[in-house]
Amino acid sequence: MFDFSPKQLEVQKTVRDFIAEYVTPNLKTIDEGDVPDSIFEAWHKTGLVCLVAPKSVGGIELDTESCAVVLEELAYGDVGIATAFGANNLGSYPVLIAGTHEQQVQHFTPILEGKYASFALTEPNAGSDAGAVATTAVKHGDEYVLNGTKCYITQGKYAIDMDSSLVMFASTDRTIGNKGLSAFLVKGGTPGLSCGKVEDKMGIRGSQTVELVLEDVRIPASALLGAEGDGMKLAMKTLDSGRLMVAAQAVGCAQRALDIAVEYVKTRSDGGKPLTKQQSVAFKLADMESSVTAARLLVYRGAKLKDNHQPYSHHSAITKLFTTDVAMRVAQDAMDIMGTYGYTKESGIEKIWRDARILSIYEGTNQIQRLVISGGLLR
Ligand SMILES: Cc1cc2nc3c(=O)[nH]c(=O)nc-3n(C[C@H](O)[C@H](O)[C@H](O)COP(=O)(O)OP(=O)(O)OC[C@H]3O[C@@H](n4cnc5c(N)ncnc54)[C@H](O)[C@@H]3O)c2cc1C
Repeated sequence: MFDFSPKQLEVQKTVRDFIAEYVTPNLKTIDEGDVPDSIFEAWHKTGLVCLVAPKSVGGIELDTESCAVVLEELAYGDVGIATAFGANNLGSYPVLIAGTHEQQVQHFTPILEGKYASFALTEPNAGSDAGAVATTAVKHGDEYVLNGTKCYITQGKYAIDMDSSLVMFASTDRTIGNKGLSAFLVKGGTPGLSCGKVEDKMGIRGSQTVELVLEDVRIPASALLGAEGDGMKLAMKTLDSGRLMVAAQAVGCAQRALDIAVEYVKTRSDGGKPLTKQQSVAFKLADMESSVTAARLLVYRGAKLKDNHQPYSHHSAITKLFTTDVAMRVAQDAMDIMGTYGYTKESGIEKIWRDARILSIYEGTNQIQRLVISGGLLR
């Protein structure tokens, strides 16, 4: 459908081979919340461990379109694994946007060695409303002291245990709301930073979602990304990019659900009549493919806008809203088509249905996307 470059096709093949060899045979274990170390090691060996790491720090600096290819293929294999690996990109955007060369070296060095980054914005009382962040960063001489609690942070325990790199959002001035939000680069092993509750999720169990506790976490003043008060801007710009990647995952997830349904229909007959001859089934498949195709076009259009340095924030919100709803609907339709078998774990579609549910929640719920879209439209 797209004129991917030879390099992009090579990247696509690398991910497909990785999924076939390491993820697909382990889907049951992954869904039990246990990701074998061999998967992380093999992923590191592909050279794709941090897609957005700049060449100046030894990274591959993929364009957005190629990143979308990777995330789509990963999610075709498993949305949880795509989410886990994607955390290295999400946790890196603020450093790309505002980090000095020294900060970029500090951040990307452990990640390129195979460790995991985290983006820590959400808090128990600050989800959709990021401006309500209550974690504080108080300046004492040439240090900041951070106190607070973060929740639902992807790969946060890995980042701590591996002494990797986290981007932590905290308020340097709570009296001015989101204008007081700032972003900091925090090393995983910093004293006072610990992992709290590990969430037991309904889906994407190949990714880790945890609470982070900050108790008098002392970091150098040089860990501030950009200037004090830049946090909200950095978070929003990060999410503009991240949402395109969630959308790419949604396309991979939906395509997988469609493929499973098509395969099933070709082999199943009921009362002597093949399912392929049931018009209700055939029409549903047609609608599913149309939706997936439209979703994919939105993703790659968004990636092109970003790669061409054109405004893409509004398009990114539209893309996340549309594609993630498509993923859920296609997974649901696939289950319907597969009848009772679709409800069994053996069918594979039940897991995809559970995995698809997250896509319209994280990185801004679809209600928040509607706010962004209508806000832009009516401005
Ligand atoms: C698996 C997983 C991984 C995650 N990973 C990360 C991560 O790595 N880093 C990170 O910082 N966060 C992460 N999150 C957090 C995630 O981004 C937030 O959970 C999400 O933004 C929604 O926030 P909330 O859960 O607090 O919902 P709430 O804000 O409590 O919203 C509840 C409901 O109210 C609606 N609502 C809220 N405000 C409005 C409004 N103004 N207008 C209309 N409707 C509204 C929402 O749409 C939703 O339906 C993760 C979450 C999950 C589940």
